[in-house]
Amino acid sequence: MKNTQVNSLTMPVYRDAGFPLDNAETTRKAFNDELDPRRSPELYIYSRYRNPTVVATEEQIMDLENCRWALLTQSGMSAIDLALSIFQKGKKTGKWLFFNDIYGGTNSFIDNVLIQRRGLDIHRFCSIGERYDLGELESILKKLKPEMVYLEIISNPMLSVADGEAIIKLAKKYECTVIIDNTFATPFLWHPLEHGADLVIHSATKYLSGHGNLTAGVVCGNNSLLEKDAIEYRKYTGHMLSADDAYRLGTMLKTFEIRFTRHCENAMKLTGILTGHSMVENVLYPGIYTHSTHMEAKKMFGERGYGGMITFDIAGKDRSAREKNRDKFIRAVADFIPLIPTMGDAGTILLPVEAVWGDKYPLPGMIRLSVGIENIENLEKVIVNALDSLNG
Ligand code: PLP
Repeated sequence: MKNTQVNSLTMPVYRDAGFPLDNAETTRKAFNDELDPRRSPELYIYSRYRNPTVVATEEQIMDLENCRWALLTQSGMSAIDLALSIFQKGKKTGKWLFFNDIYGGTNSFIDNVLIQRRGLDIHRFCSIGERYDLGELESILKKLKPEMVYLEIISNPMLSVADGEAIIKLAKKYECTVIIDNTFATPFLWHPLEHGADLVIHSATKYLSGHGNLTAGVVCGNNSLLEKDAIEYRKYTGHMLSADDAYRLGTMLKTFEIRFTRHCENAMKLTGILTGHSMVENVLYPGIYTHSTHMEAKKMFGERGYGGMITFDIAGKDRSAREKNRDKFIRAVADFIPLIPTMGDAGTILLPVEAVWGDKYPLPGMIRLSVGIENIENLEKVIVNALDSLNG
């Protein structure tokens, strides 16, 4: 039975794998139209190519990101694969420069897939401490002549803010493609495409969906040639998001801005509590002037906020005391703040940094907090009580 239109406000979940095309003439037309990457064709063919429910959610993301196209994928990692792969040209692929302070999964993808399996010529640009030296970046761009530059605006777990504006300007001076993973900053804080980036990626598993119960990714852009390549790559590799998940993401996106405002407000308030507590040694949050990249954050994010992530270090007289205090803190908050290896959920969750990053950040007391949208008084009480129970 065909779908008949009813007076509903929402795009239904179109679960069709293939769409009925009736006869040879409409089939020919549908396949011809498929080569033209319009947002909403008259005829859909097959859900791995394009699906009306997915298109409707993509349009919501286009509004948020203020861009001409957005393509949803099943995860942030598939969005990263898509965004990078469309620039691969077999043996003619040039050098790609990746900033080093990026998501560990992306770094593993670079090592295991781009270098080991695809044999690409990959280079890394390293931060000095928590900052990227733009003078050094320029000399690398001049010497190396990479085709592409890839970075994240807010790093993890140190929450350093890269000066996206200056980096894009520099990369463009040397004619590089710029791809930005904007998962931590979200379209609420910064729009890389408006500053000249070529593609923006989000893990929609995080703030865009925001409830810790959906895995998705998205690639956004303005250039229609890249859009065509991206549609084709998604079709060939099957990176397409399901209609059910697109529908759920569409619902969650309706509250994205209000949620993210609250994430930022709660994080800012908690930062005040943490910095004032004797059992906390170091608080990393780009919204406070003690953070090494506060000036960059202020310049780029303005009054909008500074994100929902805080990293802090629990005190202790030596390494073993810090480990004990960390474990005690995690146990004390567990009912309210579970240890879950993700971020951007509506509920506050935490991660012990050393257990995840090992030698890269070997600080036994360090905790990464993904601050949720709960009642802030309750959240403060839970954290202060847990910190008060620790031994100095
Ligand atoms: N980008 C960033 C910054 C991330 O933190 C993550 C995951 O944690 C990803 C990409 C990958 O996203 P996903 O887990 O949805 O594949």
